[in-house]
Amino acid sequence: MGVATSTILKEKLQQLQQTFEGEIHFDALHLAIYSTDASVYKETPLAVAYPRTVADVKKLIRFATENRTSLIPRTAGTSLGGQCVGTGIVVDVSKHWNNILEINVEERWVRVQPGVIRDELNVFLAKHGLFFGPVTATSNRAMIGGMVGNNSCGATSIVHGTTRDHVLEIETILSDGSEVVFGSIGEAEFLEKTEAETLEGAAYRQLQEVLQNPENQANIRREYPKASIHRRNTGYAVDVLLDHRPFKPDGPDFNLCKLLTGSEGTLAFTTAVKLNVVPLPPPVPAVLCAHFASLNECMEATLLAMQHRPDQCELVDKITLDCTKDNIEQSKNRFFVQGDPAAVLMVEFRRGTQDEAIAAAQNLIETLQTAGMGYAFPIVRANRAGQVWALRNAGLGVMSNVPGDAKPYSFVEDTAVALEDLPAYIREFDALMRGFGQNAVYYAHAGAGELHVKPVLNLKNADDVRQFRQIAEASARLVKQYNGSLSGEHGDGRVRAEFIPMMLGEANYQLLRSIKNTWDPHGIFNPGKITDAPPMDANLRYEIGAKPAEKQTVMDFSDAGGFLHMAEKCNGSGDCRRLDFAGGTMCPSYRATRDEKDTTRARANVLREFLSNTDGPSAPSNTDGPSVLPGLPKQQSLLAGKEESTDWQSVLRVLDLCLSCKGCTSECPSNVDMTTMKAEFTHQYYQKHGVPARAKFFGHIGRMNVVLSKVPRLANFFIKNSFTGGLAKQIIGVAPQRSLPALAPMTLRNWFNKHQNELKITGQKLGKVFFFCDEFTDYYDVEIGVKALKLLARLGYEVEMPLHPQSGRAQLSKGLLPEAQALAKENVRLFAKLINEKTPLVGLEPSAILSFRDEYPRLVDKADIAQAKSLGTNALLIDEFLSREIQAGKIDPDLFTKEPRKVLLHGHCHQKALSSVEDSVWVCSMPDNYDVQVIPSGCCGMAGSFGYEKEHYELSMKVGELVLFPAIRITDGPSVLIAATGTSCRHQILDGTGRKALHPVEVMYEALI
Ligand SMILES: Cc1cc2nc3c(=O)[nH]c(=O)nc-3n(C[C@H](O)[C@H](O)[C@H](O)COP(=O)(O)OP(=O)(O)OC[C@H]3O[C@@H](n4cnc5c(N)ncnc54)[C@H](O)[C@@H]3O)c2cc1C
Ligand code: SF4
Ligand code: SF4
Repeated sequence: MGVATSTILKEKLQQLQQTFEGEIHFDALHLAIYSTDASVYKETPLAVAYPRTVADVKKLIRFATENRTSLIPRTAGTSLGGQCVGTGIVVDVSKHWNNILEINVEERWVRVQPGVIRDELNVFLAKHGLFFGPVTATSNRAMIGGMVGNNSCGATSIVHGTTRDHVLEIETILSDGSEVVFGSIGEAEFLEKTEAETLEGAAYRQLQEVLQNPENQANIRREYPKASIHRRNTGYAVDVLLDHRPFKPDGPDFNLCKLLTGSEGTLAFTTAVKLNVVPLPPPVPAVLCAHFASLNECMEATLLAMQHRPDQCELVDKITLDCTKDNIEQSKNRFFVQGDPAAVLMVEFRRGTQDEAIAAAQNLIETLQTAGMGYAFPIVRANRAGQVWALRNAGLGVMSNVPGDAKPYSFVEDTAVALEDLPAYIREFDALMRGFGQNAVYYAHAGAGELHVKPVLNLKNADDVRQFRQIAEASARLVKQYNGSLSGEHGDGRVRAEFIPMMLGEANYQLLRSIKNTWDPHGIFNPGKITDAPPMDANLRYEIGAKPAEKQTVMDFSDAGGFLHMAEKCNGSGDCRRLDFAGGTMCPSYRATRDEKDTTRARANVLREFLSNTDGPSAPSNTDGPSVLPGLPKQQSLLAGKEESTDWQSVLRVLDLCLSCKGCTSECPSNVDMTTMKAEFTHQYYQKHGVPARAKFFGHIGRMNVVLSKVPRLANFFIKNSFTGGLAKQIIGVAPQRSLPALAPMTLRNWFNKHQNELKITGQKLGKVFFFCDEFTDYYDVEIGVKALKLLARLGYEVEMPLHPQSGRAQLSKGLLPEAQALAKENVRLFAKLINEKTPLVGLEPSAILSFRDEYPRLVDKADIAQAKSLGTNALLIDEFLSREIQAGKIDPDLFTKEPRKVLLHGHCHQKALSSVEDSVWVCSMPDNYDVQVIPSGCCGMAGSFGYEKEHYELSMKVGELVLFPAIRITDGPSVLIAATGTSCRHQILDGTGRKALHPVEVMYEALI
């Protein structure tokens, strides 16, 4: 695109912005964020739009038609086939179109906007005893618009079918801007529709013509996948339409929703969907996790399992299971794994009671044992069944968490065959993969005749890209041999579209093209998907042969293969778009803004673009794909000038709302560690542009406190005085609404030195601990520190507090890495000599003590990494230490009150990511009659200095308001204790609710009698 064209388009987009009620972005940042989805593809879009109204979409349609560009509808963007990648305007409806519009409980339907999340819908429906059956592994963020677009289904398809089976009506805007509702219509109405001189009429007319043609009917029936394969998403579903009246006299009424579902946004724009919903399934699940010594045996067992009519029947193989071992989150869900199975078949039975569900599972065990199949048969009960499915659902994501350039990729992952063909098909498929030197990974919907298979390739390498195509072609040929479906659920997108002529025959393919041309003559709706797709190996995410040099970093990223490789670990799965109803922490900023820009995925995408650019800042690459619209130049991006590149400022912008909560470190299936990447990037940015005053202030606050703590009264006078305090906040850039913490009259270390007599052990000696006197406890939370020391002494632990440097947390969070590194090295040098399993280091503040486990090994010299890691395992949160001792029966419960008390507990984000809130539950539950409830909160929103900063204050409070503040506000007053492990969390709770929160050790200390 010439600069002139680019300028004209830019002006036109600016004009469009004037009347647009939603938002339109065409800055480098948004273009980079929306250049990928969860597939292997990347193309830079022209712009990104968040429409608010139907009128907005109509304006976009007019703009696209007039300017010969296209619209790419998108919801969560978790498509694996490249459905949401293109050079036109990405129209993301997830931000503003996410309401449930109407429900009719008697008639069992619900009407929703396309941006409603599938699981969120079910939370709403459950209140009415109803349920939307189809599910995807991504159901906690995938949205109805996308499920309809792709005709999604998943583990429940064997009972509930696919999305198509439940779509009653779709409200759309057609390519001429007309609004049309599609639904079930009788024969008379069908004929009436075919006569209308409208685009809608043309669409009906054309289908009538082609589907009543006997030759076409024969072609479709012969070439489409076997009718017994229920999950078949190859091409437009004209085979399904043939089973409707008027083409099948005893069929159901004609309904174009059957065609629109699975059409991947290529025919019309969806504004609302009416869905059939069903009564809630039986409430109690039992999951049989049958273990097999070979994949083949597992496949054969699947046939037997399906005869027991289970509710779900899913397979996970050894390679996938092995990948969950090192995933912080998923390793907790492996509790049922016995030995080293080649495959595990997870078979769920739902019944009215646990006994009935278990009995059903037992029946299957007997069948398998009689057939001599399987070697272990643990049955997981209802209370832990969710963990089994969490492990299974993480399958696709965790496999990306391998260092280096070779990754398992989704491109032959979605083939489905008739169930009876599955064992033979998989044997042949396995042989085919071995022929390519591939040790394939298998998992997922065995019960439905579909297994996901992901070959491992390096798509930066030309040979592997060639193999990418060869494997895809060979797999397509094999599927055709079994008359299977190339896509069972994920859709064609651009990865499979090229093979549709081979799968369905040329005549059928031309029929699909004619449908597309009738509905969308100007090719504005998601072109290049299903029909007329570019080659499946064009526009790949990585540039072939590109070898961007790994940048020199302070933090060690060798576990990922380097800084860039850490960013590249993001596969776009979109787990970071989960909302609070789905639990977890990741990603608090997205939860508050619902803006894709504030997801971990967006940050990883932008960092990847930035770091891939060996010569420093420049435009995102990969712009030479074929044009999808005639007459348009290959690349429609506006990224012509240097000022529009994914430069330092763009990265800074996308990282700005990252709270460094570490949620992604554990909850992202690929363990993308944005906290570490943000620290490193910020450091590199400061190297180039200088360190801002506020970063210096917060980063060096510890040093200042050394001085100020000598005159705490004077310092507090200035901090608390409204004039001087206000002025200080203004100068530093702290939000005026924030209260600044006061310095304690005496530091904890001074108290410790002066009050040794109060720490004498009078009873039984249980051992010795070293106390990490972190900079937050030392200067501010001295009262908590004193209680902790007294508690330890009272319980029988001798405490030593060697002189040591600060933790470096403040420096880490501000990207002052050389300072943080010096502190880390010094702490490791000092404590490595003292600390071991018997004499651990304990600390109160999670963000400080957990640096030993997380950041220090990344900061020390290579030669000291092993030592730092070993030290990290014995540097414990005081909660971890006490919980360990309580569970070992070392702590006498009679030391504590028997009074009943309720405790509401909020865990620190770093604790959730790197340790466990369970330890704090043990601590708070030490008094016999204390009833502890964990608040299902994610991040509190304060995150160190983040919530103090004036431009972050609003977001910080919004994050707090998501779950934490309301949960505290509804408690019945001061009789309920509020506990929080982090100093920032306690401050945030005070600012947000006016309630004082205690550290868990305070709860325990105050309960001593
Ligand atoms: C880890 C992982 C696991 C997965 N597991 C499954 C699985 O078990 N089962 C399964 O079926 N899929 C699975 N998928 C694929 C994907 O999650 C599903 O297809 C999902 O339903 C897509 O939802 P989405 O909101 O992300 O849609 P998007 O990806 O945003 O969009 C999907 C399609 O719908 C179209 N679309 C969206 N909104 C509109 C609209 N308003 N109007 C017209 N068209 C629209 C888009 O253009 C696109 O073609 C998986 C993906 C990943 C990454
Ligand atoms: S950051 Fe993690 S969770 Fe988010 S899209 Fe990337 S891989 Fe998925
Ligand atoms: S560290 Fe927290 S805020 Fe930052 S990207 Fe990860 S989950 Fe989101």
